[in-house]
Amino acid sequence: MNFLFSAEEEKLRSTVREFLAEHFTDEVRAENTAGRRGEGWGPAIRAFFDTVNEKRWFAWSWPTEFGGGGGDRTAQFVIEEEFYRATGITLGGGTGAPAILSFGTAAQKQEFVPGAIKREIIFCQGYSEPGCGTDLAGIRCRAKRVGDKYIITGQKIYTTNAQNSTHIFLMCRTDPDSVRHRGLSILLVPMDMPGLTVRPLWTVQNDPPAPFGTTYGEERTNEVFFDDVEVPASCLLGDEGGGWEVARRGLNLDRVGAWRYLISVMRDEDIVNWLHGEGELQDSLREDTQVRDKVAEMWTEAEVCRLMTMRSISIEQSGGKFTYEGSAEKVFAPEHSVRTTEAISQILGPFAQLMQGSPAAIEKGVFAHNILGAYQSTINHGSVQVMRDQVARIGLGLPRAAK
Ligand SMILES: Cc1cc2nc3c(=O)[nH]c(=O)nc-3n(C[C@H](O)[C@H](O)[C@H](O)COP(=O)(O)OP(=O)(O)OC[C@H]3O[C@@H](n4cnc5c(N)ncnc54)[C@H](O)[C@@H]3O)c2cc1C
Repeated sequence: MNFLFSAEEEKLRSTVREFLAEHFTDEVRAENTAGRRGEGWGPAIRAFFDTVNEKRWFAWSWPTEFGGGGGDRTAQFVIEEEFYRATGITLGGGTGAPAILSFGTAAQKQEFVPGAIKREIIFCQGYSEPGCGTDLAGIRCRAKRVGDKYIITGQKIYTTNAQNSTHIFLMCRTDPDSVRHRGLSILLVPMDMPGLTVRPLWTVQNDPPAPFGTTYGEERTNEVFFDDVEVPASCLLGDEGGGWEVARRGLNLDRVGAWRYLISVMRDEDIVNWLHGEGELQDSLREDTQVRDKVAEMWTEAEVCRLMTMRSISIEQSGGKFTYEGSAEKVFAPEHSVRTTEAISQILGPFAQLMQGSPAAIEKGVFAHNILGAYQSTINHGSVQVMRDQVARIGLGLPRAAK
């Protein structure tokens, strides 16, 4: 067991860090933020993406034939850490691409994976529906096979980033007589099809807009409507009726990555960095024993978050199978984020409530916005209650809970 990175990996870390310090300029950062808000990707961020792609850093451990770097997963983790911390950009092909690599036909892999790595193809995740988020067995969105096409009708909700996406990774019911998880399929649907409508679903995070670096701050979520949307049958990923297995595996793979822990742990780094800064408030707070104790306690928890993610990475690297590990991470890290943001709000007192735009807001209100993002992170991508249930059943072998 070796928790340390090799000299080569540490060298890679320095190289990536120096690259980002030079190339992720204020202009690139501003265009990245605008792009994530759905205002379009400007030329500076596009050029930045191209340079990163030439280095194969977006997907260092993915197969070279599909645009990856062919390197190992630990090195990719190092690159991911540096990128997420400095830019908020997650690496890999985003939602969907890992599942396409596992379940796609040769043609689908060629069509989607290189483009997803280059950020030319972006998938949003179309699982949740009104009345069915945790229990996807209740999915009603229907895709009817007619000749060599599917005709889709129904609605999705909380489809994050749909406004920026080129495709939706859609879970729908292809067998109308099926119940629960049987008869569900995954379709890879272009967003520009006639009959497909995206409507914004504004949340507390969007107004006032959160500053850069806030948990889920720049994300917008949506409703997506399908009114007789026709797509070719070749959009089917995996077997018809086998969508549950595709989605389950896809979700597990989507959850693995440095961002998983950093999205929670960067809150600790924010407060420590701020306490190191100059100012009357910082001067008094950093000498306060209760503040120091609390910050140290949260920092210790943050280290646990990182180690849990590293365990998942090493399972992936060794080709092992995930059972409960991703779920355990999805309990601990978001709840840590809630504990940390609450502790920060006690440390900062009334300042913790001032959001972006308020003249007295600290760090543009990032701490106030982070509290909102922390609670959100306990729900999206599978709620912590449901993740606990998976740890109990799959990890600890306990029976299903009585209904
Ligand atoms: C900001 C945001 C972004 C999102 N982005 C996406 C996205 O991009 N794509 C997508 O498909 N979905 C997305 N979601 C949806 C998210 O996955 C669901 O909200 C989540 O799975 C919970 O489902 P629900 O909202 O239907 O709540 P419910 O399933 O009704 O759950 C309500 C509460 O009951 C608890 N609960 C439910 N069942 C059980 C159980 N068996 N045991 C114990 N407790 C239980 C839950 O933990 C939760 O606290 C997003 C959600 C949010 C808030």
